[in-house]
Amino acid sequence: MSDSVQAIRGMNDLLPERLERWQRVERVARSVFHAYGYREVRLPILEKTDLFARSIGQHTDIVEKEMYSFVDRNGDKLSLRPEGTAGVVRAGIQSGDFRSQLQRWWYAGPMFRHERPQRGRYRQFHQLGVEAFGVPGPDIDAELIIMSARLWRILGLKALSLEINSLGTPQSREVYREALVSYFSAHESELDADSVRRLEHNPLRILDSKNPDMQAVIQSAPSLLDFLDQESTDHFDQLRALLDNAGIVYSVNPRLVRGLDYYARTVFEWATQTLGAQGTVCAGGRFDGLVVQLGGKPTPAIGFALGMERLVELMSEQQIPGDNTDPDVFMVMAGDAAQTRGMAVAEEMRDAGVQVQCNCNGGSFKAQMKRADRSGAHYAVILGEDEIVANRATVKPLRHEASQQQIEMGSVTRYLVEQLDKI
Ligand code: ATP
Ligand code: MG
Repeated sequence: MSDSVQAIRGMNDLLPERLERWQRVERVARSVFHAYGYREVRLPILEKTDLFARSIGQHTDIVEKEMYSFVDRNGDKLSLRPEGTAGVVRAGIQSGDFRSQLQRWWYAGPMFRHERPQRGRYRQFHQLGVEAFGVPGPDIDAELIIMSARLWRILGLKALSLEINSLGTPQSREVYREALVSYFSAHESELDADSVRRLEHNPLRILDSKNPDMQAVIQSAPSLLDFLDQESTDHFDQLRALLDNAGIVYSVNPRLVRGLDYYARTVFEWATQTLGAQGTVCAGGRFDGLVVQLGGKPTPAIGFALGMERLVELMSEQQIPGDNTDPDVFMVMAGDAAQTRGMAVAEEMRDAGVQVQCNCNGGSFKAQMKRADRSGAHYAVILGEDEIVANRATVKPLRHEASQQQIEMGSVTRYLVEQLDKI
């Protein structure tokens, strides 16, 4: 074992059992997104490094120190995507799809950031994200948030709370930025090293500090909401009214900012107290300027991304089961004739939608029954020499008390479908 190859630190294997909850999230999310008219896009995991520098921002943690970047064989500078929005915007501009009114898109897949691995924070992690392009008003902001609330509701998740804020326009934020710089400069002795560094290039990010020692000085900082322009204030008020109307509970956190530079106006986060320090499960906001910034026509936009690892951990904490991948039926086949007949009967069952795991690699009747038990199947269908002669199968319930039945070979599929329907 000692010299066997190991996975890269912070990059996890997702093996079948762990994936059951993932599959449930993906299945439910797909149907919820579909119910709101969102369509899936699948984009490259590698992009030019420049795309991320131009969108996420030069002075963000992601671009400054977290990207997996390299020069490829042609000398091009490439990066593994650290998030999904930049690629989505690039694809929309490149395809011309943003020219035709509204686009609602969603995506899923791995993202890469060279962060310090810990609970809820990995170097390869997975996001499910949605983006809507072409709507400037707060109706789409509300729709997006209502959609995320529906997702939690259908998954059965509890203890997630919503915080919202408005970052205003880039112009109003500039005024706020100055107020913030003069406030934090006056309190420089209370700042940690990271925040001192941010003071020059990215003072808003100081508000996002996770350092407990910084919380007091952050709490007393000027509030962004006092610096909003009139249009942003109206937008925010309308969003709040729409959320109130939909019965969505939220709190306004005037210190909520995001780690990416492209956000403007609405930002929001769904978080829980129960996952430790990495409690934010879903985060998003408006990025009206990004399409232009990347060379497209002015296109308002808003989106969010949820972190699959954190969401799935929360599900397991709340004992929400995943999708069951156990078979319905395990086929026990003793002897060559039974094997041949059994494989044909299994095909017939699969035609009828039954999930069948066939015994492979022979083995005694006893050994096969053991495998049947371990498979998690509801029924064993047993074919031995006697069954072949009588043209019947023995159907044995494995997970509930009931006696086994001899069923005519031609009726066994119908019988099982009926029995499974009752479960
Ligand atoms: P955080 O404040 O937790 O670092 P972030 O602001 O960097 O998150 P976004 O870039 O907005 O997060 O990503 C959206 C979501 O993706 C996060 O809310 C989180 O659930 C998840 N996420 C982000 N980074 C990681 C990571 N390194 N490992 C696991 N999940 C992550
Ligand atoms: Mg982060």
